[in-house]
Amino acid sequence: MKIKTAEFVISNSEVSKCPDSRLPEYAFIGRSNVGKSSLINMLTDRKNLAKTSGRPGKTQLINHFLINASWYLVDLPGYGYARVSKTAKKTFQKFITAYFEKREQMLCAFVLIDSRHSPQAIDLEFMQYLGEHGIPFCIIFTKTDKLKPKALERNLNNYQAKMLETWTEMPQYFVTSSSNGTGRDEVLDYIDSINQQFKPE
Ligand code: GDP
Repeated sequence: MKIKTAEFVISNSEVSKCPDSRLPEYAFIGRSNVGKSSLINMLTDRKNLAKTSGRPGKTQLINHFLINASWYLVDLPGYGYARVSKTAKKTFQKFITAYFEKREQMLCAFVLIDSRHSPQAIDLEFMQYLGEHGIPFCIIFTKTDKLKPKALERNLNNYQAKMLETWTEMPQYFVTSSSNGTGRDEVLDYIDSINQQFKPE
């Protein structure tokens, strides 16, 4: 898919105020610093569409970007930032779960995982939550340019083995790098293929 237009539409903290539209949308979520903003900018081929945040955990907003006037890319706040208080974590959980449980046009959540790290409980628990609620998701492994091919392969195998302890199959996943563009076509083509199947009522 070619990105012809990508524009910021709205930021807000309430799912009820998200764009009133039936266009399909795709959410991007992960731990703070996982490389989400860089990935969004890489996918859309825009330098600063998503702001790389200097203050992780502070931008607790749902950001809608309209792509090619036909689908929304949704940038959700990063989770798991250690310095956020317990109350802030609870508020965050409520607001994210409200988004996922109410936003019917959200066709796939892309859960970003830093390819350099071993499986983290917070990501596994989040995917468990998505699975239990029947919310479709894929995994995007980020920053793969930072690993040598052998180390990357080892980490991916390790992640898959961990997932298979609780899942019957490995969810669809993508291997990406915002530095060199790896995985860009695959992610965009995947979104395109879902868009083709999606017919608004
Ligand atoms: P966010 O907090 O999840 O939005 O993460 P950012 O996109 O702000 O990235 C966090 C840090 O990781 C920044 O210093 C980025 O330059 C770096 N980074 C993000 N993606 C990549 C990547 O694919 N390759 C490399 N080498 N660095 C990356």
